[in-house]
Amino acid sequence: MERLNPFTTAQKQLDWAAEKLGLDEATHELLRWPMKEFSFTMPVRMDDGTTRIFRGFRVQYNTARGPAKGGLRWHPDETLDTVRALAAWMTWKTSVVDIPLGGGKGGIVCNPKEMSEGEKERLARAYIRATAGILGVTKDVPAPDVYTTPQVMAWMMDEFETLVGEHHPGVITGKPVPIGGSLGRHDATARGGIYVAREAAKAYGLALQGGTMAVQGFGNAGQYAALLGSEILGLRLVAASDSKGAVYNPKGIDPAALVQFKKQIGTVVGFPEGETLTNAELLELDVSVLFPSALENVITEENAPRVRARMVCELANGPTTPEADRILQDKGILVLPDFLANAGGVTVSYFEQVQNTYNYYWELKDVYARLDDKMTRAFHAVDEMAARHKVDLRQAAYLVSVARVAEACRLRGWV
Ligand code: GLU
Repeated sequence: MERLNPFTTAQKQLDWAAEKLGLDEATHELLRWPMKEFSFTMPVRMDDGTTRIFRGFRVQYNTARGPAKGGLRWHPDETLDTVRALAAWMTWKTSVVDIPLGGGKGGIVCNPKEMSEGEKERLARAYIRATAGILGVTKDVPAPDVYTTPQVMAWMMDEFETLVGEHHPGVITGKPVPIGGSLGRHDATARGGIYVAREAAKAYGLALQGGTMAVQGFGNAGQYAALLGSEILGLRLVAASDSKGAVYNPKGIDPAALVQFKKQIGTVVGFPEGETLTNAELLELDVSVLFPSALENVITEENAPRVRARMVCELANGPTTPEADRILQDKGILVLPDFLANAGGVTVSYFEQVQNTYNYYWELKDVYARLDDKMTRAFHAVDEMAARHKVDLRQAAYLVSVARVAEACRLRGWV
């Protein structure tokens, strides 16, 4: 299944941009590979007294524009290649929103759903002991991603600060607010995507008010997409899914009630005001906006011909395979590409670091206003590039981002 290796996808996307931009051979090769990568093992004492050995990764993909930045994923299917791909996408993500950071990503092969709080805490601390030497505000700054939470960030920050014997809240972002987190970080990924969807709808004449949405993946990004899609864009939630299945109600689902239900029961399946649907069926619903908000490779060449959404706003990283992407484009579906649509999270992570450095904290309205400004500017820079080169928004986002990273590499004298 070479075709579904996300790193192969990431390299192919870069190859296209490198050719279009006319990058020289050395720059292209430099950007095809992580600058540094780390793999390690972590022994962790489990509650039953046994010791388990976990595998961990941290990839620093490119640091030409600033320290590496990107989340930590805890997932049973994590591999070095998925982390490499995600680290590459972080590089393009920080570049497209023009924040002074590079790209990185980390992961642990584990299933946090089967671990106790104590086991998770020991694993979080073990990860920091393994990576402390390569992390820091001037080197590499992790954050939450799939199955990691503000609490995990808190343990990690504490472990780092214990090791170095000083306060360094900016070593990690997505922390709980009382210990250096930023207001507005919790819903920033979804909020940023909603701002991009708003701008795209205006630019392409799509009326969203009164329209419908389906959310694939009802985790952090998906839940806030449903809440904010309703609040800011006036969309009606008709379906939502998670790893256990989906719920559907064409008359509309109250997003707040569904969030509450998921919190209590652990899944959207069985929500009383709706019927059950499969994940696959959800992706093919006739809706105004589809939000893929979980993992990579969910829209493939197999199901893309049946996707009927008018707009696909990619809150997940890499949800659409390149073959599927072409099919969606040919069908005239407006695809808001992942590293633009989901850049709100890292943008507020950057704000968090700025506040940590100042040791002075902003009000929520200032976070929202600055996030809106960043996302709106990023969308229009990408849209102008798309018009200039007659390419789609994903291709345009690559051209904007890769050109900026390539320029930074050149100015540093690397190439
Ligand atoms: N994990 C998020 C992402 O993929 C956020 C990264 C960050 O805040 O550094 O964009």
